[in-house]
Amino acid sequence: MSQPTSPFGGFAIDFGVPDDAPAAAVAVPPVGVAPRETSLLILGSGPAGLTAAIYAARANLAPIVLAGFQPGGQLTITTDVENYPGFPEGIQGPELMERFRAQAERFGTTIVDAEADRVDFSSRPFRVWAGSAEYRAQAVIVATGASALWLGLESEERLRGRGVSACATCDGFFFRDQEVAVVGGGDTAFEEALYLTRFASRVHLLHRRDEFRGSKIMQARVETHPQIEIHRSVVVDEVLGDDKVTGVRLRSTKTDETSDLPVGGFFLAIGHRPNTAPFEGWLEKDEKGYLLVDHLTHSRVEGVFIAGDVHDHRYRQAITAAGDGCRAAIDAERWLETVGVAEAVTTTAW
Ligand code: NAP
Repeated sequence: MSQPTSPFGGFAIDFGVPDDAPAAAVAVPPVGVAPRETSLLILGSGPAGLTAAIYAARANLAPIVLAGFQPGGQLTITTDVENYPGFPEGIQGPELMERFRAQAERFGTTIVDAEADRVDFSSRPFRVWAGSAEYRAQAVIVATGASALWLGLESEERLRGRGVSACATCDGFFFRDQEVAVVGGGDTAFEEALYLTRFASRVHLLHRRDEFRGSKIMQARVETHPQIEIHRSVVVDEVLGDDKVTGVRLRSTKTDETSDLPVGGFFLAIGHRPNTAPFEGWLEKDEKGYLLVDHLTHSRVEGVFIAGDVHDHRYRQAITAAGDGCRAAIDAERWLETVGVAEAVTTTAW
């Protein structure tokens, strides 16, 4: 066990703080603004975070949720959700997340539209900062999710927002009657391509291999859609255009030949990166950069729990994230009981 770096209540308590943890952050709350205290702080407001909030709120823990840079998480930038149980006709992603949020708030969750950017997990109460605002919590659930990946091309970066997008739901509308391209071979790419057929005259799906990674049912829909043209075994070498996208330069992975495909929009759908920056040095990560759970939903820091896409790169479904949030809330509640916190601590309102 590592040595505790900070006393708590006059006693030295080892929270399993790793030896390589950053030095305790020195932060002074804004003048006249006291840190806000809670039994349970939940970081992230996707299915994992908000399900954790529903369970914790119903357990009288009055949790605070820091909603993050994308309140509601990735489902807020998707369209039809057809595989979330209980919605036989399907439901729109943003509406589903509004319902999660309303349900969490109904039982006493406070949701703050702020993003945690720094933490100090060296001792309890744990400290979390969102800008200059400080939160102190007896337990924390990390449910910060994952964000879209980019190819890393200079031209892609330069033309971002000028025809390059990672969100068809957000930007598809702008490409009415134009040809667009989507890169990727997973369910996200399928979903984005299908969605874009509502606006675009033609959707080119660009995949670097012959075999797709996405589900068979979605693949069949894409393959049979009259507006979708599939380009297999191609990579994008460059996004073309000065001020706005005019096309993409493709290279065959089989022949190395290049060709230009004229399109007005270019959509990325190549996967995601977990949002772990604030926890650097505090929580362990796997080789892909996802947080590692120690056991059940516990992290290696006692009292800090992990749920959802920030650690799960295998299932990454709304339903599995929600299930994970439920597990984390139950684990947090039981753990809080073992350290003598059975209900909400007083919060300082600001
Ligand atoms: P994914 O399954 O990891 O697929 C990413 C795709 O992008 C792969 O086909 C990959 O190619 C390709 N790719 C990755 N890096 C690339 C690069 N640098 N250049 C070109 N292509 C690249 O990611 P996802 O589609 O976002 O899906 C993630 C998870 O969410 C999956 O479990 C999926 O089932 C789930 N999901 C479900 C739904 C739904 O059920 N409605 C919707 C969306 C997502 P390779 O195949 O060659 O690796």
